[in-house]
Amino acid sequence: MTVVSSQTVAGSWIDGAPVTTGGPAHTVTNPATGAPVVEFALAGPDDVDAAVASARRALPGWAGATPAERSAVLAKLAKLADEATDTFVAEEVAQCGKPVRLAREFDVPGSIDNIDFFSGAARLLEGKASGEYSGDHTSSIRREAVGVVATITPWNYPLQMAVWKVIPALAAGCSVIIKPAEITPLTTLTLARLASEAGLPDGVFNVVTGGGADVGTRLAGHAGVDMVTFTGSTPVGRKVMAAAAVHGHRTQLELGGKAPFVVFDDADLDAAIQGAAAGALINTGQDCTAATRAIVAADLYDDFVAGVGELFGKIVVGDPEDPDTDIGPLITAAHRAKVAGMVERAPGEGGRIVTGGVAPDGPGSFYRPTVIADVSEQSEVWRDEIFGPVLTVRPFTDDDDALRQANDTAYGLAASAWTRDVYRAQRASREIHAGCVWINDHIPIISEMPHGGFGASGFGKDMSQYSLEEYLSIKHVMSDITGVADKEWHRTVFAKRG
Ligand code: NAD
Repeated sequence: MTVVSSQTVAGSWIDGAPVTTGGPAHTVTNPATGAPVVEFALAGPDDVDAAVASARRALPGWAGATPAERSAVLAKLAKLADEATDTFVAEEVAQCGKPVRLAREFDVPGSIDNIDFFSGAARLLEGKASGEYSGDHTSSIRREAVGVVATITPWNYPLQMAVWKVIPALAAGCSVIIKPAEITPLTTLTLARLASEAGLPDGVFNVVTGGGADVGTRLAGHAGVDMVTFTGSTPVGRKVMAAAAVHGHRTQLELGGKAPFVVFDDADLDAAIQGAAAGALINTGQDCTAATRAIVAADLYDDFVAGVGELFGKIVVGDPEDPDTDIGPLITAAHRAKVAGMVERAPGEGGRIVTGGVAPDGPGSFYRPTVIADVSEQSEVWRDEIFGPVLTVRPFTDDDDALRQANDTAYGLAASAWTRDVYRAQRASREIHAGCVWINDHIPIISEMPHGGFGASGFGKDMSQYSLEEYLSIKHVMSDITGVADKEWHRTVFAKRG
């Protein structure tokens, strides 16, 4: 699979054109082979300033376009993105080591559908009915673009994360500067190029590919932006929020997760085993909503552990370009070392490695799917985000204990409950503290419904109409309809004259 695109010459996109920035040389590497994919110069803080200035200039025109005009550009972008499916797939596979089946059937079509959704949502702005709520005034609501939006995204789903942030902002009439993770910028750059081809005015969508410490910090704390929206780890998200707080900018944070996967004793065991494998291993486990903590009824515990152990053992780990591959490599050798280190320390904290725990020989940062049973509640693998193909498992005694364990985490992004009892399902969905609770499934997302966490997983929503709200300010316009100078309420300030 060959990756051919404009990114071979430039790593940033500013004011509607590829820009060769002056920062240090940077190589995007294929994690499956270690081979270079693309080389370009990184952006630096000055490039951020240029991109913000470009977005600022472009804002009035785009914010002033009609919803129908914005919708038309997004509809054209969805069409162009669909036609560019092969390019997007090739880029995602090359830069992330993402299995081609996942890229072709999940990342890319999901992203296109999201663009399509926001093309429609751009025309559907909601608010209270205009009316004479005071009796003496007509009140109405205006929805206005927040302004210039700074976006910072991670490496695990580069295209989807860019789409989830940039597209609703564009639908709302905002202009955007996005900083993708510098190890996975290709699909974000292609998206920006296609947006230009779709008729998006220059400067509305800018990409600065640079490091977190310099470019990310400069962007998050930039006085020239109005909002900062971030997807990534919880510690970095807090730094971004602190940088944005200097100017009091609106922020939205989509952060880490440690999703519980609760299997009640009346669950369909086969469905739960299969769901746990799919939920834990999607994207090689590098998924913020991945099923990571299986909490299983004592009666089913041994069969569940044996079942997931067997299924994980059959997973095909290998060449991401091969359609028969189930999971590809982890993103970098350094990330694999982090995952492997956590797994290696688990037995010291009571964990039993049922399967996996090994890195295959050869090039590429591959790691075998791993199940760790009997982990203690205080162990590192149970409490901290691993972000790899690792499922940890613990038993529970009764429903109260199951829900207590599910909620015993600072994170609150996603969770699932497996049961055939409607009352248990309702209780779990009510009591589990997370932005999404699946019943008898784990992972599916849909453009019409929101994604976003509670607690240490952040706040605010991606996807759906709720996401559009993030990028809109609500203005109340209150117009006097009496025409009198001597208004009744003035008496609260000064005595009646004359
Ligand atoms: P990360 O936090 O290391 O990096 C995310 C982005 O922030 C990158 O672009 C990085 O360059 C940038 N960055 C780093 N330091 C910065 C700084 N000081 N100031 C500004 N920007 C900075 O995360 P990652 O390793 O790229 O991605 C994995 C993490 O993302 C996991 O924790 C995962 O759970 C999370 N994630 C969350 C969601 C969600 O929707 N909640 C989705 C995907 C990934």
